[in-house]
Amino acid sequence: LPKGHAGDYNQALMDLGALICVPKNPRCLICPVMSLCQARQNGTQDQRPVKTPKKDVPHYVQAAGVIIQRGRVLLALRPSKGLLGGMWEFPNGRVNGDPARGLPNALKTGYNLRLRVTRHPRAERSRRRSRSAHKQEPLGTVQHGYSHFSVTTHVFRCELLSPPKETNLKWVPLKDLDTYPMGKIDRQIAKMITSKVTPKV
Ligand code: SF4
Repeated sequence: LPKGHAGDYNQALMDLGALICVPKNPRCLICPVMSLCQARQNGTQDQRPVKTPKKDVPHYVQAAGVIIQRGRVLLALRPSKGLLGGMWEFPNGRVNGDPARGLPNALKTGYNLRLRVTRHPRAERSRRRSRSAHKQEPLGTVQHGYSHFSVTTHVFRCELLSPPKETNLKWVPLKDLDTYPMGKIDRQIAKMITSKVTPKV
């Protein structure tokens, strides 16, 4: 660094990067440091800056249950530490294969909930007519990417077969959902259900 001119030096570097040594088509012919530039000497100026290759991040499929009773929906409080610590979520879990089939087991394991997926009335009529097993349609599907993995979440209406027991579960009035802190996936589910469900008081 030139003594006493660190600020000027930094400013000059920023100007060089903004006006001359730009990522696409750097203007080497008018560059004041061309004679010092290793990239120019090696003919690699068009490959600078070196881009770090994007890492392949794992992708997971999960299913979430929307359980509504008398205008309230069942939420779970996440552990205080870790990803989205202390936020609220719709009970969910990773699934393999058909997400509707895997959901009851995932929520039994993760939240000690006993439930079944509610069949959409239209799908039920269609199933009765054709007398065949129809794949359960989700209320919606949410895609989300974190820095180290991405997730597809299929959302289903569910009904409980027995009352919830775990202390991190809470019945929350639908009208209060906005006041509960949530991650992006759960916020989208909340929007999805408040637009589809008419709350009963
Ligand atoms: S000579 Fe080097 S520093 Fe100057 S514009 Fe070209 S690549 Fe950038």
